[in-house]
Amino acid sequence: MAGKASIDPAFAAAYGAVGCGVIVQDATGRVIYTNETARRMRAEQELIGAQDGVERVVSTGAALADADLPSAAALRTRTAVRGMVVGIRVPDGAIRWRRVDAVPTDDGRVVTTVVDVSEQREAERALREQALRDALTQLPNRALFLDRLEHGIARAKRERTVLSLLVMDLDSFKEVNDTFGHHAGDALLRQVAERLARCVRRSDSIARLGGDEFAFVLPNTNEIGAAVVVRSLLGALEEPFDLSGQSVSVGASVGLALFPRHGEDADALMRRAEIAMYTAKRAGGGSATYTFEDELDERSPHLLKVVPELRDALEHDELALLYQPIVELATRRSERVEALVRWRHPTRGLVLPADFVAAAERSGLARQLFEKTLRIALSECAAWRAAGSELRVNVNISTRNLVDPEVVDVVAGALSDTGLAGEWLGLEITEAMLMADPDRSLRTLTRLHGMGVYLAVDDFGTGYSSLAYLQRLPVQAVKIDRSFVHDMTRDEASLAIVLATSDLAHRLGLRVVAEGVEDAETLDRLARAGVDAAQGHHLARPMPAAQLA
Ligand code: C2E
Ligand code: MG
Ligand code: MG
Repeated sequence: MAGKASIDPAFAAAYGAVGCGVIVQDATGRVIYTNETARRMRAEQELIGAQDGVERVVSTGAALADADLPSAAALRTRTAVRGMVVGIRVPDGAIRWRRVDAVPTDDGRVVTTVVDVSEQREAERALREQALRDALTQLPNRALFLDRLEHGIARAKRERTVLSLLVMDLDSFKEVNDTFGHHAGDALLRQVAERLARCVRRSDSIARLGGDEFAFVLPNTNEIGAAVVVRSLLGALEEPFDLSGQSVSVGASVGLALFPRHGEDADALMRRAEIAMYTAKRAGGGSATYTFEDELDERSPHLLKVVPELRDALEHDELALLYQPIVELATRRSERVEALVRWRHPTRGLVLPADFVAAAERSGLARQLFEKTLRIALSECAAWRAAGSELRVNVNISTRNLVDPEVVDVVAGALSDTGLAGEWLGLEITEAMLMADPDRSLRTLTRLHGMGVYLAVDDFGTGYSSLAYLQRLPVQAVKIDRSFVHDMTRDEASLAIVLATSDLAHRLGLRVVAEGVEDAETLDRLARAGVDAAQGHHLARPMPAAQLA
């Protein structure tokens, strides 16, 4: 049987009918049958100049020597070789891919089947590639970007050099979308992507992270080099964009994080670059660049002007507090108010926190600003108490304060000077800020908690923490960021975030407060969702202490 030079006609008929190539060899390796498809493949190979069946094995499922093709291996070892994919390189450099299975039969022969998988592999490759690209701009997406960032960091570690990470967010993209529609928004993003891509070197990576957010990895680049790149990126946006005849201008805010100064892994660097970007945005965007927690940037004209004025303001009692009631939904009564700082500027009028708090933080005035606000809030709270009120007060505290080793003493001092127990004070910590230095924050929070101070995570949903992480902190409440609350009656995704946050927070034993409630419908939806308390213009606007009663 083994020596027979041909195969059973019934098998031959069956092999002839299948779509893959079939080759049968006898025990000595001599080919005794090939079906039509196999002959065609073979002819093709000869045509492209590949001798001996396969010119070159470029990829296999296992480490086979070039000559040791699946059929040879099956003949030699008498065991089946399955699913081997071999590539044949054609003269112009392209590769035809074939899946080969070689199975020994009981009578000593080997039956080899060959399927051309080139198109399938190409489709898979395209799909993989597509999964890593942003469909709108064709730039790498977040997943591919993070991968490149990780590679960049690994390389910088190996080569003991630095790396810059930039995160950029367009400043008025939402307005463009709202005014001209989504089509125009898409067109703008495409044009922005093209211009930005032209500003970076070959070794740099650019990506669209989503929405109007772009990011850049600049290997071997310190902050000075990064500043040059930022200037050219912002310069590229200066020329107005043309949206079917409409001329539109957009600015951008850029955050910078440096390896290794601001973090040693991709996660930490991304977080810090985003916080820096967020700070830049709060400071007015335009062409602002911030590095995470950098000391005052001497070249920033905005900060240079505002800081001495602010120092004056702190000395001359130009700060005032407004109070906004936080209303319990079950009783519709207010047990707590949030203190919101205002600067009564001698010439500019009332200045909002967005326009000076960040500057104060970055210029060494963080503690003074916090202490001043805290003392005003506590003394006013003590006055309400003296008048028979049970109202407690929340003060916003920033990351600079949380990492200040003396902040606990500042709080203790202010409490004892006003004769209030810790229970009368609440502190609100912005989520993004909390995540900037979780370990140090935790130590401070634990001590404040020990003093009876009520702790709430502010602007929840804008940072990167999970509720599971927050649960490990001694906080009692989360305040859902007003951006979600604002949209929840119109936008499914925002509603889902509010509901899920509320549900999960409750399961973890945290109170849930919604901020930015602007209408009755939202308030009603929040009440049905079981949210504990709410704050917003619909309930009460921030007001001077005298009006609170
Ligand atoms: P926040 O802690 O989330 O404070 C709530 C902000 O939402 C306040 O803005 C408040 O006026 C505003 N708001 C209240 N109800 C509504 C509403 O229904 N709709 C809308 N759209 N907004 C509403 P404000 O006073 O401008 O404060 C902005 C941020 O500045 C605060 O956000 C807080 O993070 C910070 N901030 C305020 N006071 C201080 C302070 O004394 N120290 C520090 N470090 N930060 C402060
Ligand atoms: Mg707050
Ligand atoms: Mg808030």
